Amino acid sequence: MSDCLFCKIVAGDIPADIIFEDDKVIVFKDINPKANVHLLMIPRIHIASLAELTEEHDALMAHMMRLLPVLAHEQGLDSGFRTIINTGKDGGQIVFHLHIHLLGGSGLPGFA
Ligand code: 5GP
Ligand code: ZN
Repeated sequence: MSDCLFCKIVAGDIPADIIFEDDKVIVFKDINPKANVHLLMIPRIHIASLAELTEEHDALMAHMMRLLPVLAHEQGLDSGFRTIINTGKDGGQIVFHLHIHLLGGSGLPGFA
């Protein structure tokens, strides 16, 4: 998707503070962090949102889920962390390339 912000990060056309990447995902710091640790995990392939997932994405999604606690541990979040997936306009999604927020540490806001 040529007009997708996160596809441009995948392509290297827009800089990002990347902290992890493999053949399936990229993880980078959120530009407007809501907590001491605020990372975004995205698939390399363009999927607009959770609502667009199909069975062909099952292995990818499992990979992403299993990576999250590993990354949280690497960030020192051993007493807990929060993951958020905003879906659709009314779900607060602003960037329509599937992403998982990983938040933790000091400054983690209440869930309200
Ligand atoms: P959403 O509301 O779609 O779940 O969250 C989008 C997130 O992307 C926001 O937390 C926002 O701060 C972050 N974001 C938007 N543009 C950029 C960017 O260009 N670079 C990075 N690193 N994060 C971005
Ligand atoms: Zn995209």
